[in-house]
Amino acid sequence: VLRAEGLWKSFGEQPVLRGVSLELSRHEVVALIGASGSGKSTLLRCLNLLEGIDDGRILLGDQDISDPRVDADRVRSRLGTVFQSYNLFPHLSVLDNVTLASRVVRRMPRRDAEERGRALLDRVGLGAFAGEHPDRLSGGQQQRAALARALATDPDVLLLDEITSALDPELVGEVLGLVRQLAEDGATILMATHEMAFARDVAHRVVFLDEGRVLEEGPPAQVFGAPREARTREFLTRFR
Ligand code: ATP
Ligand code: MG
Repeated sequence: VLRAEGLWKSFGEQPVLRGVSLELSRHEVVALIGASGSGKSTLLRCLNLLEGIDDGRILLGDQDISDPRVDADRVRSRLGTVFQSYNLFPHLSVLDNVTLASRVVRRMPRRDAEERGRALLDRVGLGAFAGEHPDRLSGGQQQRAALARALATDPDVLLLDEITSALDPELVGEVLGLVRQLAEDGATILMATHEMAFARDVAHRVVFLDEGRVLEEGPPAQVFGAPREARTREFLTRFR
């Protein structure tokens, strides 16, 4: 469903992505791992067009979404994205957060959008919070609401950028549990994460990014159990 071909991205003089190619099949769950600064967030931001690329191509289905003429909002509604924090609009109710893109980008009638929004909030265990403002929710609840919002437009792919790393430890489990559930239900997910145990358990494939390149990728058992590259081994020892 999603394919990046030879992505290059620099900030000023500093190359951050150096020819990244990556393919995501439907229903596949891919964990993106790598040291801080290796380019994980930049890659995800390029994929959903929050950052422009200097070279390469991004295909969503058979559409070249790196073509500057594409409607970026529409593309983003097909790539549900959740970041580490500050995901929800503070001035909108939880339900309005969830329905906004469906109503504005997809032009869904409010009634339909709200019906779908409520069903999604039920699915993430927040049915009772539809009318609340985000600041009434715990961090874990906010991230679950952000996942519901990302799912509202029925995206082809979920892009998750360390969505548990700003949470208090006791709240991490409820969010990872939900991601696991979504994966089991067949979502296509690309997730940058430092939760190695979770990646090992839930991902179908692990991609190790090192200084803006894909240095190694493979099934979790291989990348975690028998990494080919010295730098992968070195990185993973920090999580033991
Ligand atoms: P972390 O694990 O800490 O989240 P990461 O792998 O997500 O790290 P990125 O956030 O993609 O890494 O950053 C890669 C490099 O790009 C870093 O050196 C960072 O300083 C630089 N960078 C990222 N965004 C920008 C920006 N908007 N302007 C300038 N430099 C940036
Ligand atoms: Mg990051």
